[in-house]
Amino acid sequence: MKLISLCISLILFSNLPQAAEWSAIQGDVVSIKASFEADKVRLWCFGKKWPAKLQADGSWKGWIGIDLKTKPGTYPIEWSNGKRIVAKDSVTVSKGEFRISHITVEKKMADFDAPTLKRIRSEAKLLRATYIAAVDATPDIHMDGKPAEGIESTPFGAQRYVNGAARSPHSGIDIAAPAGTPITAPLAGKVLHVADMYLNGKTVAIGHGNGLVSVYSHMQSTDVTIGQWIQAHQKIGEMGSTGRATGPHLHWGVRFHNARVNPESLL
Ligand SMILES: [Zn+2]
Repeated sequence: MKLISLCISLILFSNLPQAAEWSAIQGDVVSIKASFEADKVRLWCFGKKWPAKLQADGSWKGWIGIDLKTKPGTYPIEWSNGKRIVAKDSVTVSKGEFRISHITVEKKMADFDAPTLKRIRSEAKLLRATYIAAVDATPDIHMDGKPAEGIESTPFGAQRYVNGAARSPHSGIDIAAPAGTPITAPLAGKVLHVADMYLNGKTVAIGHGNGLVSVYSHMQSTDVTIGQWIQAHQKIGEMGSTGRATGPHLHWGVRFHNARVNPESLL
């Protein structure tokens, strides 16, 4: 019996490729590669399935999103062909070096009465629902440039203080430019959400498939409707300072299978 199970183990695991050790920082989209023969693969990490594509040289390339708040440490990655595990890798996540950002806003934008809090929560819930919406995959997962010209006024991951009180870390990047600056989609996709939110202001969410959703906030105007399919570089609206904003800017956030990732790691 022991011999049989030993034989089975040898058959199952003897030809696993050497485990690759990948490294990333919080908020990265880490791109990984593996070489094995398979018609299809299932790439698994953090209890989620991630996109993987067969490359011209016969290897597989996959992408994994490291949420901004992932605890530093080493996490297992499994490649399987649908029947059995064909490669076992790992990713070691280290802490991001994020700066601190203080903003001062009107009191009504920092301390909310009960009806406003209710509105904020229900708006956030509707936006969150888009992060897990299924959308047909686009061929690519990379963003072809930034959605607007301008200067980066608040980087990804910054620890936010609003009127002196600590808030959630900044889950996107802010691009500042004059009001009316055009905002374009850096990747084709389906418009999942258009709303005028108390804190985020006029907001558009676009699903790109492969578990990728990009979000654009504080817009002065929006040019798209829910359900519309848009092409890469199509205009989706104009920059503004709607919602909680200290001046005209675009907040650009990206979710990858619900992980808050740095949009710049997809450029
Ligand atoms: Zn922002």
